Amino acid sequence: MKKVLVTGGAGFLGSHLCKTLHKQGHYVICLDNLYTGSKDNISELIDSGNFEFIEHDVIEPIDLNVEEIYNLACPASPIHYQQDPIFTLKTSIWGALNMLELARKNRAKILQTSTSEVYGDPEVHPQVESYKGSVNPIGIRACYDEGKRAAETLFFDYQRKHDLDIKVVRIFNTYGPNMHPQDGRVVSNFIVQALEGKDITIYGDGSQTRSFCYYQDLIDVIMLMMESSESGPINIGNPNEFTIKELAENVLELTQSQSKITYQDLPSDDPKVRRPDISLANEKLNWTPRIQLKEGLQETIKYFSSIKK
Ligand code: NAD
Ligand code: UDP
Repeated sequence: MKKVLVTGGAGFLGSHLCKTLHKQGHYVICLDNLYTGSKDNISELIDSGNFEFIEHDVIEPIDLNVEEIYNLACPASPIHYQQDPIFTLKTSIWGALNMLELARKNRAKILQTSTSEVYGDPEVHPQVESYKGSVNPIGIRACYDEGKRAAETLFFDYQRKHDLDIKVVRIFNTYGPNMHPQDGRVVSNFIVQALEGKDITIYGDGSQTRSFCYYQDLIDVIMLMMESSESGPINIGNPNEFTIKELAENVLELTQSQSKITYQDLPSDDPKVRRPDISLANEKLNWTPRIQLKEGLQETIKYFSSIKK
C-alpha cells in the first residue's frame, strides 16, 4: 500500500483516479479547493477508510507525508479557467511549485497533468512532443496555456536541480462521466443540450477538429506513466480526429434528440486542429486507447441521463 496524493481529486479525472488507486489498495489523499470539482464525485470514498479529503488550495503550501503525487489541480474548461485568469495562472505555477516542494521533502514521485494546449493553435499536425508550439502569450487562453508551459519548466528544473523523479503527460481532450453538467467543454455541453432538447451550440462553423479520449483509457495510461521510468513529456489521448460538427451529429444520433444545431462566434485563439501523435506512449508505455468515440459517448450519455433524474 502506497500513500498517494491526488490534487484536483474531486474533479472529473481526479475522482476517477482516486477511485482506481483506492480500489488497488492504496491510501489516497484527495486535495481539492472545490473550484470546479464536487464532493459528490468522491462521495463513495469519503467514509470507506484509507481515504482522506483535504479542502485546500494548491496556491498555498502544505506539508504532508506522501510517496506519490498526481498533480491535477487546475480548472480545465476554457470558460472556467478564463473566469479568473490570474487564479488559473497562480494555480498552474504556484500549485506546481508547492507540489514539487512537497515531493522534494518526501523524495516522492510526482506526475504533472500537462495539456495539448502547450502546443497552442498548432502548425504541426498531428502534434509530436518535439513540437514547441504556437501559443499567443497575451490571449484569453494564455493563463492556462502559459501556466501549464511554465509548470512543465518547473518540473524539468526540479529534475535537473534536485534529481526529483518527475513525470509529465500532455493530455488531449478527454471526456466521460463525472464531468460537471455546466463544465462548458464541448462533449458535456452537447450531451446536456441534446438531453434537454435545447439548441446544440457550435462555436464557429464546426470545421475545427479535436480528438476525443474516454476517461478510462486515460486513467490507465497516467498510472502506467507513474510506474514507468519515463519522465516525458508524453502525449496521451485518442488519435481519432473529428470535426466539432461531426461530434454534434454523433451526439444527436445517439441521444435521438430533436435539438437543432445553432452557430455562435468562435472564441479567439480557438485551435483549428488537434490530434496527438501517440507513438511515444505506444512505444515507451505499451499503451494504446481502446474505447472509441461512439462507445464512450454512449456511456457518458447514460451518466448525464442518470444524474438528470
Ligand atoms: P476539472 O475541472 O474537472 O478538475 C480540476 C480539479 O482541480 C477540480 O476538482 C477543481 O476544484 C480543482 N482545483 C482547481 N484549482 C485548484 C486549486 N487552486 N487548488 C486545489 N484544487 C483546485 O478538470 P479535469 O478535466 O478533471 O482536469 C484535471 C487536470 O487534467 C487539470 O490539471 C487539467 O489541466 C488536466 N487536463 C485535462 C484535460 C481533459 O481533457 N480533461 C486535458 C488536458 C489537461
Ligand atoms: N465548442 C463548441 N461548442 C460548445 C463548446 C465548445 O463548438 O458548446 C468548441 C470550441 O470552440 C472548441 C472545441 O469545441 O473548438 C473544443 O472545446 P472545449 O472547450 O471542449 O476544449 P478545447 O479543446 O477548446 O480546450
